[in-house]
Order: sequence, then structure tokens, then C-alpha cells
Amino acid sequence: MKNKRPNLSLDTLHAYAEILDKVGTYVYTKNILGEYTYANELVCKLFERSLDNVIGQTDIQLFGIESAARLKANDAKVMQAGQTIETTESLFIKALNQIRTFWAVKSPLKDDNGEINGLLGVSTDITHQVNLQKKASAQSTLLDSVLNNLEDFIGLKDNEQRYLYINQAGAKKLGTTVAEAIGKTDKAILENTVSSAFDRLERQSLDTMSKVAEEITVGEGVNKEFFWSVRIPLELEDGSPGVVGISSNVTELSRLKEDFKKLALTDSLTGISNRRHILDVAETELKRMHRWNETMAILVIDIDAFKTINDSYGHQMGDNAIIAITEACKNNIRDIDHFGRTGGDEFLVISPKCNRSEAELLAKRLQDAVNNIILKDNSGNYIRTTCSFGCVVSEPGDATFSHLLAEADIAMYESKSNGRNKITFT
Ligand code: GH3
Ligand code: MG
Repeated sequence: MKNKRPNLSLDTLHAYAEILDKVGTYVYTKNILGEYTYANELVCKLFERSLDNVIGQTDIQLFGIESAARLKANDAKVMQAGQTIETTESLFIKALNQIRTFWAVKSPLKDDNGEINGLLGVSTDITHQVNLQKKASAQSTLLDSVLNNLEDFIGLKDNEQRYLYINQAGAKKLGTTVAEAIGKTDKAILENTVSSAFDRLERQSLDTMSKVAEEITVGEGVNKEFFWSVRIPLELEDGSPGVVGISSNVTELSRLKEDFKKLALTDSLTGISNRRHILDVAETELKRMHRWNETMAILVIDIDAFKTINDSYGHQMGDNAIIAITEACKNNIRDIDHFGRTGGDEFLVISPKCNRSEAELLAKRLQDAVNNIILKDNSGNYIRTTCSFGCVVSEPGDATFSHLLAEADIAMYESKSNGRNKITFT
């Protein structure tokens, strides 16, 4: 025998009234005129009315004209077209003085002849969820607009370093679109090794599950770019590890830093080390030589009668002489030697791993190179320059650098008093 379910009617609902009071949703029936014929406890509570004061009332009395008009349109679909509808209904609740949103399922009720004579409504208050959704959506819109308007490159990758998210600036930098980048690795997009430094940083972050940050250099020469890159590991929704990457282009700042560093260490006229830098280098080098039981040569070079060049041919010619002497010396020292301008017309050569006889050869080579310089002024006059040399070679475990430098200075003055263009060793 077929187990036929009874028609959904008001009587069947009344039979289950006690249960319906406990289902935690709003259950109500209306007749064809829109008057309430049944309401469970929750509905009565919502209106702050007794059941007697709900029954026979319409939505106009219970919700007000505006909300009632919207409900009427939904109810008409159920009672006129005989449809079961599922819809959200936002209603002003007078008792709470606020709008609440409900998920409503409304089905037609039928009499014994199968004629529609009302509706059954089951509504669930989803205000909290809707508000959360609105909040999440607002936050997501905010986040999207922030991330997509940043000039920094921001991405989220999975454990295989495939993009799960990338902002517009990031995709543009990779020469692709956001949609095309998703699911791909940097390597797959760039097809070269540009990405290797970033890959390494990400791998390091994923392997150690710790935040890492580094300045990464990409490209060469004028195309060189610097990125301050931060990688932060995290757990993805499915529990697998992922990594967030933020890379900021700091090229301009890094170039400025490099320029300032260079400026602070170099002599502006010649481009070689300035006094402070060459003395620092010399000090470090001497300590190294002491450690390795090696000797080091220190050569103080001072241009002879430089004032005369300035006075006779002008300051510019003086500058040209300084530059020419710099070039001559630079071309006659080894790669491991250091060279700096320590004063107006004074230079210093530091030659590590250099013994006395090698130092003598070096000084002679530099003297010859200087003596071979011929400068020409605007009137076609030829000018020769000479230098006086003061040299000292450190012994392993010898005195401090400042002491050796003072000795080299004394030797240089001895060259001056011996007629200039001389080499004197202490
Ligand atoms: P000495 O042989 O005893 O060394 O005589 P000198 O004329 O070279 O005397 P001194 O070393 O005292 O003179 C250095 C001169 O160098 C004085 C200064 O005007 C000049 N000078 C310092 N810096 C510069 C520079 O950058 N350019 C030029 N053209 N001259 C400079
Ligand atoms: Mg001089």
C-alpha cells in the first residue's frame, strides 16, 4: 500500500504545534487574504504579541506598509502561482527597531479539494551571516583596491611556488596578466634565471617556515634593479604550506646609497680613494699582513714644487698634473695594491706582500712613470713634473700603521731635502 502523505494543511500544522515551537526557526501560516492563521512561539516573540494578537493580523499591521508590500509580492507567487519559493526577505522589525534579514521558504497550503487556501512560511534569521558577508566583501574590496594600487609586487604561492594570487603590479612586472599568472611558477612565466634569487628566498622561507628578507639585485649595468624582498610563510586553507611575497623596487634608493658610499670613500678630482678610505684600508691590510707573517710596503708620494705649477700655469694645469700623476701611478701598481690621495699633492701606495727589493722596484717604476709625464698648457708650453718618495716596508709583527706612515713621511721629507725627485727608504 502506498504511504500517502497528507496534504499540507493548517490542521496538520496545529497537530505539530509543540514541535514547531522548538525548531528554532520562524514558522507561520497565512490564509489567502494574507491574515496569519498560525505562528510559532518565535514569531510571537519577534512581534512581542500573544498568538491571539497575531492570528488574524496581516503583514501591514505587523511589519508596516513598506515591508508588507515586499512580502505580498513573494506571497503572491506562492498563493497565486502555487510555487514553493526560497528567498531572502529583509524586514523592519518594530519591536527591535531594526532591519533583520531572513531566509524564507514559502509553500502553498491546500484544502481537502486541493485548492490553495494559504501558505506555510519557514524563515531563518540570517542577519548575522549577511552582515558578516557584507563585512567580508567590504574588506575584500578594500584589500583588492589597496593591493592593486600598490607599486610593490605582492603574491601568494603554494608549496610548489605556483601563484595562488598576484597583484596587478606584480603581473605587469612579469609581463603577464593576473589571470595568466595564477597556477604558474615564476620560471614558467619568465623562462630564464631572473627568478632564481626570488626562488631561493621563497624556498628558504618555506623550508625554515620563517620570515626572510633580503635586497635582491636583478639585471646588469643600467638595467640593474634592486628589490627589497620579504617572504612570509603561512598555512593555506587546505593546511598545506604557502608563502606570501612582497617585493618593493628600491632601485633609486639603493643607487643613492651606492653613490653616497662611493662619494664618502673617493676623491672627487681623481676618483681614487680619499685620505680616510686609504688610511682605513691600509690599517686593515697591515693587520692582515701581520697575521700572515708577511711584509707590506708603504710609499708616500708628494709632488715637487707643485705650488709653482699652480702659480705659473694656473690651477687647472695643477689639477691636470694631479690627474696625470694619478693615472701614471695607477698603471704601475698591482691589482692587489691600494692607492689613494691623502692631501692636495700627496698620495699613498700600499703594497701588500711586498718586500724591500720589490718595494724599491715599485718606487723606481712609479718615479719613472711620473718623470715621463709631459703636460702641455694652452700656450703650447711643455711642463714636466717630478715627485719625492718616502718608503717603508713593514716587518712581520711590526709597529702600528700610524707609526709606519710617520716614518714614510720623514723619508719623503728627506727626499725633498736631498734635492727632490728622489726615493728614500727608512
Ligand atoms: P714641495 O716640493 O716642498 O712639496 O713644494 P710644493 O710647492 O709642492 O709645496 P706643497 O706641497 O706645500 O704645496 C701643495 C700645493 O698644492 C698647495 C695648494 O695650493 C695646492 N693644491 C692643493 N690641492 C690642490 C688641488 O686640488 N688642485 C690644485 N691645482 N692645487 C692644489
Ligand atoms: Mg708638494
